[in-house]
Amino acid sequence: MSDACPFCDLGDRVLAENELAVVVRDLEPASPGHTLVIPKRHSESYFDLTNAEVAACHALLRAEREHLAKQHRPDGYNVGVNEGAAAGQVVPHTYFHLIPRYTGDHPDPRGGVRHVIPTRR
Ligand SMILES: [Zn+2]
Repeated sequence: MSDACPFCDLGDRVLAENELAVVVRDLEPASPGHTLVIPKRHSESYFDLTNAEVAACHALLRAEREHLAKQHRPDGYNVGVNEGAAAGQVVPHTYFHLIPRYTGDHPDPRGGVRHVIPTRR
């Protein structure tokens, strides 16, 4: 736990949880339903998560996908982790993005997350 970390104490933002991870909606959603799955233990790096923490996050990703499918009826999803500031990590506490995608939300979505460097399209 880090006192300065906004993801160590999410308070009433938590929508769902299991023993090792929680679910919140992104405060600046990239698309309707944009969700974050966040391990409870403070860990800056995805690669420092235990297998149990990864499994707990995966379980919540699956469960939230089911909820999003009913609530928003997206046509696809992007799932991803930004590892390190150079890769776009903003909060120094590992988190998974679950971003619903909708047909037509981008003129050419082919390649998805491989296009995170806009100049390398
Ligand atoms: Zn934290």
